[in-house]
Amino acid sequence: MTDVSLEIRNIIFEKFNSDERFTNDQIFTELQKSDKIEKSLTIDDMEKYFNELCDIGIMRNIAQNFTTQWFKLFDPLEKTTCPSCKAEAPINKSEEKSCPLCKAAI
Ligand SMILES: [Zn+2]
Repeated sequence: MTDVSLEIRNIIFEKFNSDERFTNDQIFTELQKSDKIEKSLTIDDMEKYFNELCDIGIMRNIAQNFTTQWFKLFDPLEKTTCPSCKAEAPINKSEEKSCPLCKAAI
């Protein structure tokens, strides 16, 4: 079982880290291409994860047009290795540093 939230972070890190803005549709397309999320998931299922990343302070919602949402990162993400579970997670240097997978402090 993949952690969708972590996969979204990975996509942002790999594809949109230096972009001015990106959309939920772009992220979802990349997620589907990556084959790392279940095929049954829809873009509506992604909404809670995008909201979560906004709540944590990684990005903010800057515009919306029907179902398309534009997001902007507060800061580029940086790959950090969790000392507890050894997972590599892209995190924002200003967010509270905890592993997205095991929640250990980083
Ligand atoms: Zn961890």
